Amino acid sequence: MQVLLVEDDLRVAAALETALRQHGHEVTRASTAAEALAAAPVDLVLLDLGLPDRDGIEVCRELRARSEVAIIAVTARGEERERVLGLRSGADDYITKPFGLAELQARIEAVMRRAMRATPSRPSVRVGGLEVDLDARRVMVAGREITLTRKEFELLAALARRPGHAVTREQLLAEVWRTTWRGSLHTLEVHVASLRSKLGDPSYVQTVRGVGYRLRTE
Ligand code: CA
Repeated sequence: MQVLLVEDDLRVAAALETALRQHGHEVTRASTAAEALAAAPVDLVLLDLGLPDRDGIEVCRELRARSEVAIIAVTARGEERERVLGLRSGADDYITKPFGLAELQARIEAVMRRAMRATPSRPSVRVGGLEVDLDARRVMVAGREITLTRKEFELLAALARRPGHAVTREQLLAEVWRTTWRGSLHTLEVHVASLRSKLGDPSYVQTVRGVGYRLRTE
């Protein structure tokens, strides 16, 4: 799993990084709010709320506004207000310093289990003559398989996982291209155009003006 470790105490960060790597996670480190918000998308953010440049609560809110990434807030002992604010700002859980590594690992597992349950797998999605098999990575149109590039498929899959729901351009960039750089919006538009053309019916992928795209439902 990709973990973003946001911690300005470099000694604590180094110890945590070692422990997380031992548990098989890939770790990216950030020691400021600015670095945390500029980091590439990950599966889980371990977010120290006491950061030097900005309020950790704001960072939490901003991360949550962008994606459904799992967030565990790290707070100092006795900071009940921080814990409550952290949870209200979109953190999935919190852990209080000082904590043991066993507790941290248990919380990570619990948060990831909840995240998995929140997005039930949809092996196959059908809309009209379109069928998207998410597990087999196959797409059929009117009973015939069509060939998509890897990114075209991932784009279609990102929409097919939430049929009828608008998915923001930022979310698509994060999920398909693993970037938050808005300069990539042109790449997204180009892929939407080629995907629509291959599906043969442009109405499957609908534009949600000013927001993003959604997969048509019946
Ligand atoms: Ca700190």
